[in-house]
Formats: sequence, structure tokens, C-alpha cells
Amino acid sequence: MRNKTILLASRPTGVPAQENFKFEEREVPELQEGQVLLKSLYVSVDPYMRGRMSDAKSYVAPYAVGEPISGGVVAEVVKSLNEQLPKGTVVLGNLPWQQYIVHSGKGLSHINPDIAPLSYYLGILGMPGLTAYFGLLHIGEPKPGETVVVSGAAGAVGTVVGQIAKLKGCRVVGVAGSDEKIAYLKDELGFDEAINYKTTQNMNQAMTKACPNGVDVYFDNVGGEISDAVYLALNKFARIAICGQIAYYNHTTLPSGMRVEPILLKKSALMKGFIVGDYAKDFPVAAKELADWVQEGKLQYQETITEGFDKIPEAFLGLFTGQNTGKQLVKVAEREV
Ligand code: NAP
Repeated sequence: MRNKTILLASRPTGVPAQENFKFEEREVPELQEGQVLLKSLYVSVDPYMRGRMSDAKSYVAPYAVGEPISGGVVAEVVKSLNEQLPKGTVVLGNLPWQQYIVHSGKGLSHINPDIAPLSYYLGILGMPGLTAYFGLLHIGEPKPGETVVVSGAAGAVGTVVGQIAKLKGCRVVGVAGSDEKIAYLKDELGFDEAINYKTTQNMNQAMTKACPNGVDVYFDNVGGEISDAVYLALNKFARIAICGQIAYYNHTTLPSGMRVEPILLKKSALMKGFIVGDYAKDFPVAAKELADWVQEGKLQYQETITEGFDKIPEAFLGLFTGQNTGKQLVKVAEREV
């Protein structure tokens, strides 16, 4: 059985490239009692993986050079010596970028294919959806009539943030990087305004125009100049959820720019960073609510699905040039059962 895996070949400096990844073929070992053989179906590529390619200390350990890259994967049990996980079970786990994986079964969660397509468990019903839910509702605390701005608005997290904010009765303004994405946010997802940061000459002016009543909640996926423009438009008692800073992930020096403290002080504003895992104990409740909203048609969901195991690095690299709308995934194989 051919079994390809993708290793971290070297640590990138600045923007990562194909040469930082290495494909290798590995033997599939014989199953031992209690183990299962998993076949990868969908592999998630996520911006946080860029951080793990570096050796800088962070909230999650770096990938080791010469070892497989890992992340969220939906996989099917294709052989089983574990009665908890019979053949045909579909699971979600933190797994290596590998076609077949021998696994003990520990730490895998069962997926119910009847609730939603399998891929949704890596997106709206998985880590990105939960990130949007907790960052917006627990830090942003949006109230009807308030203005919510979200950067990285057309991505996996941003599309969910904006739609939940609409469900909560807010005016929603998104910032994204192409005219197609702007049209999608306004025409398909019902955002009130959207700004293309790549073609906007004066971001401060554009933000003020898009938010005539100021900004009450800012969900930040990006950082940099987009954020500076939002800070200048904040209202009293604004809440800022720092979810991601993708504008800096490929920087080799510490970012510098506007000092936000005087604004936070004058506006009695709250700024809070978070990692979705901070809310782990509340995941089941949130996942249920997200699933209900999807099933009721209240949340729309878009994916960019790249086909083929060999395309995983390319799909990952595309996150930094905005190739994706909604959640970027790679479909590796069809389900057998
Ligand atoms: P995503 O938004 O689906 O994909 C990344 C998007 O970022 C790209 O499509 C691109 O869209 C935009 N982008 C890339 N480089 C940029 C730059 N220099 N300036 C502005 N925009 C840029 O990714 P995601 O999974 O939903 O993640 C969004 C953010 O949330 C990331 O920062 C990620 O690290 C963070 N995150 C945090 C947590 C947490 O626990 N705190 C969990 C999940 C994700 P454009 O075309 O608009 O440029």
C-alpha cells in the first residue's frame, strides 16, 4: 500500500514555500490489538500552522524538522482491532499529513455524517466555527443595533463571525482582499458593508464611511493597518477580540505601528486576545448551537476544496495570498463505506 506523508523539510524565513515541505513514502505497520487503520479523507490547512513551522515559543509546540506536519483531519476507520471504533467509523483528530495512519484511537472524536457533510467538522462545526462563536459572543458581546467590524472577513472564521453578528441584530462590516470576496460578503452573506483593503487608498476614510455610527465590536483576524483604521473609529465601551494577526505571520521582525493604549483609555474599550482552546469546556454547547444554525439555514457556509494529497502544501501556502473563500480544505480520498 502506497502511503505518502508530508514532512517539515526546513523552517521558513519569511513567506513559506514548497521547499519547506518534503514528501516521503512510509510503510504502514501491522495493526496491533486495540489499534485502527485510518484513511485520511479531508485535511485542514490553517494559518496557525505557519507559527508551528518556526521554532519560536508559542501556545502550541513547533513541528519538528524531518517529522510529519499535523493538524485537523477527518478520517475513516478502514481496518479495526478496536471494538470502540469499528470499520466505517468516521473520526476527527489531530493527525499527521499522511494518507494512512495507524492509531490507538485515543483522542479521536466520532463524527455524525447525518448532521452535516464530513468536511464541515473541520470548518463551521469545528475549530474555525468555534473560534468565531467564542471570540464574538464571549469577548465581543454584540448587542442589537451595534456595529461589528471583522477583518479576514471572507475566510473560515470571518464568514461565521459576520453571520452570527447579523443573527444578533448588528450592523456588520467586513474587510477582505478582493472584489469577488466583497461581493460575496454583501450579496450572499448579507454583510451591510465590505471594504477591499487591497484597493482602498485611504483605509481610515473608508472605515468611517462604512461605520457612520462608529465601531462597537472589532473581531480582528489580521492586524496592521486595517486594525489602525478600526481603532480610530471605536465607540465608548468598544470590545476588541484579537483572534489572529495573519498580516505578521511571515514577518521576521516584531511589528511596529500605532500605539492603541491612549484610544483604549479614552474609549474605556476592552481588547482581549484568545485561543479557542480557552473555551474547551463549553465546546459541546457551542457546537450544538452552530449545528442547529446550519441545519436551520441561518448560517451559510462556503468551502474552497482542493483535490489531492499532493496539493496540501499548495493549499496551505494559498492562505497567505488569499486564494480561499471560506474554509480551505484538501480532499484526499473518498469514503469507502
Ligand atoms: P482564513 O481567513 O480562511 O484564511 C486566511 C485569509 O487571510 C486569506 O484568505 C486572506 O484573505 C487573509 N490574509 C492573508 N494574508 C493577509 C494579510 N497580509 N493581510 C490581510 N489579510 C490577509 O483563515 P482562518 O482559518 O479563518 O483564520 C483567520 C485568522 O484567525 C487567522 O489569523 C488565524 O490565525 C486566526 N485563528 C485564530 C484562532 C484562535 O484560536 N485565536 C483559531 C483559528 C484561527 P484576503 O483575500 O482577505 O487577504
